[in-house]
Amino acid sequence: MECDEYKMTGLKKKDFLLIIIVICAALVVWAAFTFFRGTDTGSVVVKVDGEIEAVYSLGENREVAINGGTNILKISDGTADITKADCPDQICVKQRSIAADHESIICLPNKVVVEISSDRESGIDASTN
Ligand SMILES: [Zn+2]
Repeated sequence: MECDEYKMTGLKKKDFLLIIIVICAALVVWAAFTFFRGTDTGSVVVKVDGEIEAVYSLGENREVAINGGTNILKISDGTADITKADCPDQICVKQRSIAADHESIICLPNKVVVEISSDRESGIDASTN
C-alpha cells in the first residue's frame, strides 16, 4: 500500500506538469485563433432540416428571418443570436449568442441550426464584395 501511495504522488507531480504544459499549449493555440479571427470574420451557416438554407458573414450586422420567419437571426458585432422564434420551448432564444468557430444555436422544434464557420470566409467574401 505504501508503495502505491508513493507512486500516486509521483504521478500527480507529473500530471501537474503535464497540465501546465497543456494549458500553455492551449493558450498559444487560443491566442493564434483570436489573432486570426481578429483579421478575418467567420460566417454564420443557417441550416434548416439538415440542409444549408443561407450563409451570412459574421462581419455584417443584419437581422434575417430563417425558415420563412419561424426564427429571427440577428448578427451584430461579430456574434450571431436568435432573437425571436415561434417554437414552444424558446430554448434557441434563451441560448447565448455565438461567435467562435463551430459554436451553434439549435432550435429543435423548427429544425433550425445556426452554426459559426470560419472555414468558408474566403468564399463569403467573394460573394458579398
Ligand atoms: Zn427554438
